[in-house]
Amino acid sequence: MDKIERHDAGISRRAFLRRGAGLALVAGLPGWLSGCVTRPGSGSPPWAELAASLQGNLLLPDAPDFRQVAAPWALQYASRLPQAIAMCASEADVRNSVLWAQAYDVPLVARSGGHSYAGYSTTPGLMINVSQMHSVDIDPATGVARLGGGARNRNVYAACRPFGRAVTHGRCKEVGVAGLVLGGGIGFNMRAHGLTCDGLKETRIVLADGRALTCNARENSDLFWACRGAGGGNFGINTGFTFETFEVGDYTVFDLAWSDRLPEVFDALQAMALSAPDALGMKLSVVARAGTPGLTLSILGQLAGTRDQLDALLAPVFAVQRPSKQTIESMAYWDAQEFLSEEGYPEYSHERSRFVPRSLSPAAIATILDELRAWPGTSVAATWKFFLMGGAIDRLAPAQTAFVHRGNAMISSIELEWTAQDPRERVERNQLWLSRFHDRMERYTSSYCYQNFIDPAQQDYLHAYYGENLAKLREVKRRHDPKNVFRYPQSIPV
Ligand SMILES: Cc1cc2nc3c(=O)[nH]c(=O)nc-3n(C[C@H](O)[C@H](O)[C@H](O)COP(=O)(O)OP(=O)(O)OC[C@H]3O[C@@H](n4cnc5c(N)ncnc54)[C@H](O)[C@@H]3O)c2cc1C
Repeated sequence: MDKIERHDAGISRRAFLRRGAGLALVAGLPGWLSGCVTRPGSGSPPWAELAASLQGNLLLPDAPDFRQVAAPWALQYASRLPQAIAMCASEADVRNSVLWAQAYDVPLVARSGGHSYAGYSTTPGLMINVSQMHSVDIDPATGVARLGGGARNRNVYAACRPFGRAVTHGRCKEVGVAGLVLGGGIGFNMRAHGLTCDGLKETRIVLADGRALTCNARENSDLFWACRGAGGGNFGINTGFTFETFEVGDYTVFDLAWSDRLPEVFDALQAMALSAPDALGMKLSVVARAGTPGLTLSILGQLAGTRDQLDALLAPVFAVQRPSKQTIESMAYWDAQEFLSEEGYPEYSHERSRFVPRSLSPAAIATILDELRAWPGTSVAATWKFFLMGGAIDRLAPAQTAFVHRGNAMISSIELEWTAQDPRERVERNQLWLSRFHDRMERYTSSYCYQNFIDPAQQDYLHAYYGENLAKLREVKRRHDPKNVFRYPQSIPV
């Protein structure tokens, strides 16, 4: 283990320099940094020292791509900018950044895909950005996939396709695998193959004291447990992930919509979904859209099976009401994912989730439809949706990983979208509506919420995200980050 000197404030400045991290400075600044080092006035931390310790670039606010790199997916938080961004090229860069920030009392945060719903991957201090560490290597003999800590769904799609293999990934290509897997990870494969975190075999993590640990079922198993459902931003910075992949063949994908007899269609779809084989992955949405009268109910998803098998599943629903729009196609898995995927461009939105233990009652369905009909309206849309759970997710007990929400029928959420053109009062009126709707749904669903749909408005969020696993998570936090270096407004406290 490395010897690390400390003083009261944490890692000492002398220790950081002695480890060689700051010494390159005497040889002069790298070319790319000249013109970037600004404001060396009193109190300004020595950015040049950090820059010299990195293999990757250090971006300061006057760097041409600073704003673009700093921008979060959630546009309402775009004005919260860091003082600098360390574009890490290696685990050593992550380690040097973590130690340097503590040596100079600069707050730090990890950034991978930048898709935190609450904009939590930014800080007034140093953003430690691992997005350039996005390699994905698959061993053809074992099917094991090794990912850099900054890989995105997009990189997984590209690397897995030639091998005809997959993991449980998300639909949005720009989402970071780090955020996805560390908070659980839902996707259309989860009922057949488990959550993203269920396929994780090993991860590397840089801790506050600068150690880089391998975590798996045998080594540092407490951290490995925590990284499967509660790892995002709480314990350290993950620099690599090892997944088991599974083979994929032909799939049938579907995208269907209804605008009539919505309560009956909802009920029939729910009954079909809750008794469907694990090969079905499905999302149901009810949307109120600006400028469009009435509501639209739609389903999107995949069946690891044939068109005939899907038709048989949907027959009872079609007997109630035929869809007004229908696309059903059979194709190879990775073509199917292109059909299902979305780019996930930055937007203004607020999403509030609830896990649902069992089938929604007619009263719950009526509440959903009534609330959406009473949507005050923005220039975009409001959506209530559920993602079908069950199947392989429930093969593990809630305490076996930090993802406590096993045994649920679905995860539901309400998404409110708007644009910069919507006046502030209108957005506030919509936010009030969203809060009331979210509160009203608790009696039909549960008090648990998805930690990856992280929600700055959620009351009692530690219980909502981690339930009975919270006490153990706090122990892991105390053991590995006793000074609470890794923190954000809803992080796990020491
Ligand atoms: C358009 C969109 C689509 C989505 N689709 C899905 C989906 O299909 N399934 C699903 O489960 N979720 C989905 N989500 C939610 C998503 O999983 C979370 O928002 C996730 O946290 C995003 O990860 P990120 O790396 O992109 O985000 P970031 O904003 O970079 O990070 C999220 C959190 O993790 C921390 N973090 C980032 N990198 C690291 C690291 N290397 N080590 C430790 N901590 C780190 C950050 O500090 C922050 O607290 C979606 C979100 C969006 C916006």
